[in-house]
Amino acid sequence: MSADIQRLNRRLASAQPSATYRIMDRVAEHRAQGAKIISLCAGEPDFDTPGHIRKAAIDAIEHGHTRYTQVAGVRALREAVAAKFRRENGLDVSWQDTLICSGGKQVIYNALAATLDEGDQVIVPAPYWVSYPEMVQLCGGQPRIVTCDADSGFKLTPAALEAAITAQTRWLILNSPSNPTGAVYHREELHALAEVLLAHPHVLILADDIYEHLIFDDQVFQTLAQVEPRLAPRTLTMNGVSKAYAMTGWRIGFTTGPRWLLEAMEKLQGQQTSGACSISQQAALAALDGPKDFIRQSRAVFQKRRDLMVKLLNNTPGLECLTPGGAFYVFASCAGLIGRTSPGGRVLHTDEDVAHALLDEANVAVVHGSAFGLAPYIRIAYALDDASLRQACEAIRDFCNALG
Ligand code: GLU
Repeated sequence: MSADIQRLNRRLASAQPSATYRIMDRVAEHRAQGAKIISLCAGEPDFDTPGHIRKAAIDAIEHGHTRYTQVAGVRALREAVAAKFRRENGLDVSWQDTLICSGGKQVIYNALAATLDEGDQVIVPAPYWVSYPEMVQLCGGQPRIVTCDADSGFKLTPAALEAAITAQTRWLILNSPSNPTGAVYHREELHALAEVLLAHPHVLILADDIYEHLIFDDQVFQTLAQVEPRLAPRTLTMNGVSKAYAMTGWRIGFTTGPRWLLEAMEKLQGQQTSGACSISQQAALAALDGPKDFIRQSRAVFQKRRDLMVKLLNNTPGLECLTPGGAFYVFASCAGLIGRTSPGGRVLHTDEDVAHALLDEANVAVVHGSAFGLAPYIRIAYALDDASLRQACEAIRDFCNALG
C-alpha cells in the first residue's frame, strides 16, 4: 500500500472538527460509562416537534411522499417559504426565489462553496458559531475574524466592519440573534452596518436568521434585507425550521436571495445531496403553514429560563454574563476561574480546561468560548427544564466555590 494512501484533501486536513459535536460526543461517552451528565452544550430546543407536524410526516409516508423531490425542494414548500419571508420579514419574494436544503448548514456551506475562490475573504464577527470559519476555509476562502467583545454587546460596529473590508472581501456573515452570545442586532444597528455595506458593492451578505423567533422582551426581529432593501440583491437570507419548530433532526433549512446565487447553489446541490428528505419537506410545510402557538409558547419558556440562568450564573463566583436578547445561550466570562485549581487537581489555564473540568468533575457539559473565537468564556445552552438548569447551576457554583 502506498505511504500516501491516507492523504486527505489539504483543506479538510487543516480544518477543525465541529467543536459542538465533539463535546456532544464526549457527553455520550461519559453517559455510556454511567455518568449522569447535565448537558448544556447542545444548541437545540429540548421540546418535541409539535404533534401536527409529526402527523404531517406520518401522512407523508402513508401517502407516498417517498421519492426524490426536485433539487430545489417541492413547489408547495417553496411557496410556503416565500410566504414566510413575505409575511414575517417583509421580503418581496416568490417561490422561484427560494431554495430548500438539508439543514441550515447546507445553505451556508453551498453558498460559500458556490462563490469562494482561493484568496477570497469572509468577514466573520467573533464570537461566531463554530462552523462559519471552518466552512469558509473548507471552501477555499480566508475567514477574516473581527472580534466583538462584551463592551460592544458582542456586536459588530460600523467602524469595525469598515476597517475589515478589503478588495478581497467576498462575504460578511451576520447572525442575529447570535449563537453563541444571544446578541440581537436592532434596526438602527442594521441601518448603520448597511450604510457601510452600501459603499462596498462587491460584498455579499449572509444573514443567518435561524434564531429569529427566539427573541425576548418584546423586541421585534429585523433582518438586513428588510431594513435596507437596496442590499437585497446581494443578501442571502437564511433560516430553517430547526429552532423555531423544534425540528433539528429533520434537517430542513431554506433561503432566499439573488437568483444567480440560488441557481449556483442548486447546481451544486444537484451534484451532491439532491433534494432534502421528502418526508421532512412535508413536515416543514405543515410547520410553516400551520398554527404558530408553539413559537409563542417556547419563546416565553426560553425567556424565563434566560432570566433564571443569568441570575444564577451572575451569582456564581468567577462567572459573569450579560443578559442575552435572544437564542438560548448564555455566553459567560470565566476569567475569574483562570489560573485556579479544580477540586480534581487540574490547573485551569484556559476556558477549554474549565469546560473539561466541569464535565469531568461537576458532570455539567458546556462549550468553551475559544471554540467560538472569544476566550475565556463558556457557552451555556439553557434548552433544558428548570429543575435541571437549577441543578446544573448548583453544580457549577459548588465547583467554583471549591477551586483552589
Ligand atoms: N447550532 C447548534 C449548536 O451550536 C447545533 C450544533 C452545530 O451544528 O454546531 O450547538
